[in-house]
Amino acid sequence: MVPTETNWKCTSCNHQLQKSELVEQKGEILVFRCAECGNEAIVHFVPIPSSKPLDEACIVSIKWGKDSPTIFELSALRKLSPRFRESPVSKLKEMVDNDGRLKLGVYVKGEAMDLQREGRNLGLRIEIEECPTQENNNES
Ligand SMILES: [Zn+2]
Repeated sequence: MVPTETNWKCTSCNHQLQKSELVEQKGEILVFRCAECGNEAIVHFVPIPSSKPLDEACIVSIKWGKDSPTIFELSALRKLSPRFRESPVSKLKEMVDNDGRLKLGVYVKGEAMDLQREGRNLGLRIEIEECPTQENNNES
């Protein structure tokens, strides 16, 4: 991925390099040809690691809302998550809170999305919420 505007300057004449001056990219190495002086500027481009959407922790839950879960849905849930496989359907029904929600647990986003897809195939409505960040927990 190459940013539209570069933060780099020509090492020879200090000209601000433009994206259009990029001549080659080898993995994380970018090669620019400076439009001002013709110098070949080599930049080691390190992708910003802050956005790793598939590694984010998410809270995964099943939402029924006003409808109470059917036996069929609760058996589907047992197919979906090994954690619930051993639980009898009556037990699962007790675990559904007043908002019609049953928490499956915390998963990384990639797994959460797999669960959501599987859940949909089983006729379940899976909700993915992002975990509150550390900063938000320290508000008080
Ligand atoms: Zn230059």
